[in-house]
Amino acid sequence: MHKVLIIGAGGVGGVVTQKCAQAPDVFNEIVLASRTPAKCEAIKARIARPIETAQVDADNTAELVTLIRNVKPSLIINVALPYQDLTIMDACLETGVNYLDTANYEPPDEARFCYKWQWDYHDRFKERGIMALLGCGFDPGVTNVFCAHAAQQHFDEMHDIDIMDCNAGDHGHPFATNFNPEINIREITQRGKYYQDGQWIETEPLSVHKTFDFPQIGPRQMYLMYHEEEESLVKNFPSIKRIRFWMTFSREYLTHLRVLQNVGMTGIDPVRFEGHDIVPLKFLKALLPDPSTLGAGYQGKTCIGCMIKGVKNGQSRKYYIYNICDHAQCYREVNAQAVSYTTGVPAMIGARLMLSGQWSGKGVFNVEEFDPRPFMDSLNKYGLPWQEIFLEP
Ligand code: NDP
Repeated sequence: MHKVLIIGAGGVGGVVTQKCAQAPDVFNEIVLASRTPAKCEAIKARIARPIETAQVDADNTAELVTLIRNVKPSLIINVALPYQDLTIMDACLETGVNYLDTANYEPPDEARFCYKWQWDYHDRFKERGIMALLGCGFDPGVTNVFCAHAAQQHFDEMHDIDIMDCNAGDHGHPFATNFNPEINIREITQRGKYYQDGQWIETEPLSVHKTFDFPQIGPRQMYLMYHEEEESLVKNFPSIKRIRFWMTFSREYLTHLRVLQNVGMTGIDPVRFEGHDIVPLKFLKALLPDPSTLGAGYQGKTCIGCMIKGVKNGQSRKYYIYNICDHAQCYREVNAQAVSYTTGVPAMIGARLMLSGQWSGKGVFNVEEFDPRPFMDSLNKYGLPWQEIFLEP
């Protein structure tokens, strides 16, 4: 019997909860907890089988510990915000419960995400006899598993990886982000960074770009950014000589972003306004559409995948693996857009593999450290089918 505690009732939390509810063989009992109870209740109302809900402030470890002791889950799926990763991991250590998330920790007052904070928990999780699975969304998450699959099935050595994330969908709003606006804008406005020949090379934000012809979508301009899976993939596949991450943005999106940046609306330092301290980016988040409401009428597809170059049996090889996801189809299934869907489904799959014991360990792990086969099979089964092609090297 397994009970799962899902923390966070946003766009991703809604998908994870519904996908777990579709698999009662593993997820026997589900509790959804978040800061705003009404959001948990709205998700609960969409699910045919009974689930429990609870209110929690996940910034508060003591509150989390009380909730966990009441609920007694086997696993916590953290789909709140990256700010809560460490408080939830602390609560897991105190209560001896396994942990999974989709985004690595970043401090609220500094837009800098890296795995060190969470990797530093490895020995404590190991001593406590529990497991943490980090970054189990799509990117990071599926992209890491795609690399593990490529390394296991198709390459002796992987040398060059380009992770390419294209959202060619249209939600009908002049400007909206597909996941939490605050986290998304912090990520996009950071300096770019990529790894080459043992060094991390920094670039001006969104200054490096090129065109790629995405399957079923066509040519799109994509921009080099730093993304967290680069850090763990370089660590876990030492043959990598270069790894870069690219994301597409429309001209309309970039124009809005530039204006907002220029007027200071993306800043994270508090500004004194009429007797109150206001963080401009948090205020902007309050004005922008909630990502969980974007699904209705969203048209078009996402295509996220990895272009990998390396060698097999002494021969050069070039290989592309990707998933296509359709916004409208996701909405029909779980009332969500494809970015929430492509994050929530892998979180459910990772949780399923942990609970069934197919992925097990003591300590803190990234997804590429496990056998990719059951995860790759599950992607096809639970709504994220993948394609792979070999190209002229
Ligand atoms: P949302 O903003 O839609 O949802 C976040 C949820 O977390 C909200 O319900 C929010 O509550 C809740 N929350 C925030 N702070 C707290 C707190 N202190 N205590 C309890 N609950 C809290 O975000 P998304 O669903 O779009 O994204 C969720 C996560 O998924 C993010 O960490 C994001 O970075 C990650 N992600 C990962 C991707 C991947 O591929 N790996 C891709 C996309 C997203 P409230 O409603 O009260 O604000």
